Amino acid sequence: MNFKKIWLSSPHMGGGELKYVHEAFETNWVAPLGPNVEGFEKDLEHFLKADSHVAALSSGTGALHLALILAGVKREDEVICQSMTFSASANPIAYLGAIPVFVDSEKETWNICPELLEKAIEDRISKGKKPKAIIAVHLYGMPYQHDEIDRIAKKYEIPVIEDAAEALGSQYKGRNCGTLGDFSILSFNGNKIITTSGGGALVTKNQEMKEKAVFLATQARDAAPHYQHSEIGYNYRMSNVVAGIGRGQMEVLEERVKVRRANFEFYKTHLSGKDGFQFLHEPEGLLSNRWLSCVLTSSFEERENIRLKLQEKNIETRPLWKPMHLQPVFEKYPNYVNGTTEELFELGLCLPSGSDLTQQDLSRILENL
Ligand SMILES: *Cc1c(COP(=O)(O)O)cnc(C)c1O
Repeated sequence: MNFKKIWLSSPHMGGGELKYVHEAFETNWVAPLGPNVEGFEKDLEHFLKADSHVAALSSGTGALHLALILAGVKREDEVICQSMTFSASANPIAYLGAIPVFVDSEKETWNICPELLEKAIEDRISKGKKPKAIIAVHLYGMPYQHDEIDRIAKKYEIPVIEDAAEALGSQYKGRNCGTLGDFSILSFNGNKIITTSGGGALVTKNQEMKEKAVFLATQARDAAPHYQHSEIGYNYRMSNVVAGIGRGQMEVLEERVKVRRANFEFYKTHLSGKDGFQFLHEPEGLLSNRWLSCVLTSSFEERENIRLKLQEKNIETRPLWKPMHLQPVFEKYPNYVNGTTEELFELGLCLPSGSDLTQQDLSRILENL
């Protein structure tokens, strides 16, 4: 029998999006500026709170690139980056000709290990270069150990760039992910918890920094009647059409978090402890949006076995992110590892996690597992 495909994480429209997109067309704001861009930024600021200032951009990757520039990263500088992540966390370091230094994870959240981070900073300093920034990631929506990371960052006076691309709607001790770093970035790519088809945002601590980000994102044009430039600029601003999708998606964000968390609970309830399946527990005070539901299997062979069997049944799953220090393009860079991410990559599998999965879909996945 030919079952319909179950995807890992599909776009899921709420119904309100088209109204804003129509408005953009009716008023001819079909440009990388306009009322939806401003509206979407306001919606995000309202949601995030903590006096956040949001610049809507064309991607999360672009937001990271601008965050690094604003943090003062230059050619040959070193930037510490969580190894367990999507390549987009690390690529912008290379755009700047800077050097990524990868740090392994701890087991409680699968994110950057505070102990190893401090060791890495000490070692880089002893080799003559203090890192210029730390990129920490809330992997699959699980917050990193903010208090510990922040303490270390402050001690060495290194800014933290919070990659919250996967963690809109997650919280650390009651504070929203996306407001915890000196700079924070969000993504609205098609597979994220809410989407604008493609898009991202940079969250800054003050209006001045936001304006600087928007300036850089719109070709760094000086205040002059003609086109004049004193700095290199980028074309990273969000389109007013896709910002309309974002405004509609913000209306359903809280609902999306609930459903993703319920998906995770479903898998955990039915599978935990069976055949050696393990799930990542939510540490006290941390709330994950459970963007993707991940399971650890008992062995690499078992993981592949499950992945291929489900693929046959038209059910998409995916191994966890392959650590950056193992990626062919990044393996020549310095790294500080403890084996955690290598084990996660070997045993871990992301299960279908979309907020549009039906009870029937979930039952079908469970049966085949
Ligand atoms: C998706 C993602 C990004 C990049 O966002 P884009 O909008 O796709 O450019 C960055 N970091 C992480 C961890 C991501 O998952």
